[in-house]
Amino acid sequence: MNAQPSTLERLKALVGENGWSDDPDRLHPKLVEWRERWVGETPLLLLPRTTEEVSKIVRLCAETGTAIVPQGGNTGLVGGQIPHGEVLLSTERLNRIRETAPEDDVMVVEAGVTLLRAQTAAAAAGRFFPLSLAAEGTATIGGNISTNAGGTAVLRYGTMRDLVLGLEAVLPSGDVFHGLKRLRKDNTGYDLKQLLIGAEGTLGVVTAAALKLFPVLNDRAVATVALKGPADAIALLHRAKAESGGAVEAFELMNALGVSFAETHMGLRPPLGGAPPWIALIELASGEAGLAERAMERLLAAALEEDLIQDAALAQNQTQAEAMWAVREGQSGAQKPEGSAWKHDISVPVSAVAEFIARASREVERIAPGARVVAFGHVGDGNIHYDVLRASGSDEAAHSALRDKGAKAVHDIAVGLGGSISAEHGLGAMKSKEALGYKSAVEIASLRAIRAALDPKRIMNPNVMF
Ligand SMILES: Cc1cc2nc3c(=O)[nH]c(=O)nc-3n(C[C@H](O)[C@H](O)[C@H](O)COP(=O)(O)OP(=O)(O)OC[C@H]3O[C@@H](n4cnc5c(N)ncnc54)[C@H](O)[C@@H]3O)c2cc1C
Repeated sequence: MNAQPSTLERLKALVGENGWSDDPDRLHPKLVEWRERWVGETPLLLLPRTTEEVSKIVRLCAETGTAIVPQGGNTGLVGGQIPHGEVLLSTERLNRIRETAPEDDVMVVEAGVTLLRAQTAAAAAGRFFPLSLAAEGTATIGGNISTNAGGTAVLRYGTMRDLVLGLEAVLPSGDVFHGLKRLRKDNTGYDLKQLLIGAEGTLGVVTAAALKLFPVLNDRAVATVALKGPADAIALLHRAKAESGGAVEAFELMNALGVSFAETHMGLRPPLGGAPPWIALIELASGEAGLAERAMERLLAAALEEDLIQDAALAQNQTQAEAMWAVREGQSGAQKPEGSAWKHDISVPVSAVAEFIARASREVERIAPGARVVAFGHVGDGNIHYDVLRASGSDEAAHSALRDKGAKAVHDIAVGLGGSISAEHGLGAMKSKEALGYKSAVEIASLRAIRAALDPKRIMNPNVMF
C-alpha cells in the first residue's frame, strides 16, 4: 500500500529536516535508472543517517502498511531499486566505515559506502577487498549485498555471499538484526544473513556489513589473447589454473563485435590487431614477485604452440593493463549508441559455455535474422552477458517487440543446460515474474512462506521477487 498523507508527515518527523525530500529535482536522479529503462515515482525520499532511524521508519511503515523501496547507488541492472509510488529509502547517508580490523581480516562498513570507498579503506589497512565491477564508484555495499554482486574476481574469491561474514539489517517489522559477527565458522542453525544477501530489498534494509579481507597480491600479470571460439577459452582457462597454481584472478571473454563497439563508440583501442573473433582477458595475481608474469609467459607460449590461441599481448605496465580492462568494462556501455539490446545475464556450467553460445546464436538468428550478438563476460564463472542488437538498418521498434520471445528462447537454452536466467544482476522488476516459470512449485512455496513470515504485509519492495 502506498503512503497516506498523515504517514508521510510522521515519516518526515522521524528523520528531521535534512533526512527527507520531496523536491522533484532532488528526487529525479533516484527515480530514473541509468539506461532510462525504468522511470519511477515516489511521494517521499527518506535519507536516514543511522540504523535507529531506519528502524523507526520501517516500524512505522509496518504499522501503517506503507510500502518501501530501499536504494543504494541506483546502479542495479534489473530495476528493483526504482519505486513506483512506494516511499524511497536511500542509504546515501549511511556511509561510515565503522572499523577496519586487519587482525581479523575484516572491515565493518555501512550500507551506503560505495564499493570503491570500501576497496580504498581495505587498501589503507594493508588488505584487499576483492569485489570489483564497472559501477564500483557509485554502487554501494548495501546494493552489492542485496544483489549478491559477483564482478570480475568471483573465480578466485566468490560472490558477495562468500565475502560477507556478518550483517546488520532492519527487518520488515522494524526490529534490528544485530548480526555483525566476524566468524569464519559459525554452525548454529539457519543463516539469516544469507537470506538477506541477494534478497533485493524484499526482506529488510541492510544497514551495515562485516566484510572479509584478503592479503594484497601485488604481483600481477594481465594479458589479452586471440581465440577461435569459446570452447578454446574454456580449455585455456583450465590450463591457466593449472599453470599458475590457482592464481587466476579473472578470466573474461569478449567477441569481436563488442570489441569493435568499444573502439568505435568509446575510442578504446583493441588490445590485439586483426579483429580476432573472440578475445579473452586473463589476470593472474600472486604474492611472490615475478610468479604471475612467469606463469603467464609459460601459459601463453604453450597455448600458442598448441594453437589454442592465435595471438597474445602481455601488458608491460599498469597503463597497458588498465587499457585492456577498459575494453572489457566498456562492453555494456559501448553498445548504447547502437540502440536497445535484448540483454541476458545467464550462467551455465563452465563446460557448457560454448554450447550455450552456439545454440543461443542459432535460435536468435531464427527469431531475428541478422540480429547482432555481443557476448561477453565472466566465462570463468560460466556467466555470459548475451546481448542481442537489431540487425543493421532494421527497425528498432520491431526488434524491441521481439525481446520477450528472444529472452524466452535464450533462457530456455541456459536452463536446459543446467543454468540460470540471472547469474549476477538479480531479478528486480525485470525478471521476477519470468523466474517463476523456472523454479519448482516446492521452491516457490517455500520462498513465499519465508517472505510472508518476515513481512506479512509485504511492505518491502513489494513488486520484486515472489
Ligand atoms: C556498469 C555496470 C557494471 C556492472 N557489472 C557487474 C558485474 O560485473 N557483476 C555484478 O555482479 N554486477 C554488476 N553490475 C550490477 C551491480 O552489481 C549492481 O548494480 C550493484 O551491486 C547494485 O548496487 P547499488 O548500490 O547501485 O544498488 P541499487 O541499484 O540502488 O539497488 C539494487 C537492489 O538492491 C536493493 N538495495 C540496495 N541497497 C539496499 C540495502 N541497503 N538494503 C536492502 N536492499 C537494498 C534495491 O532495493 C534493489 O533491489 C554492474 C552494474 C553496472 C551499472
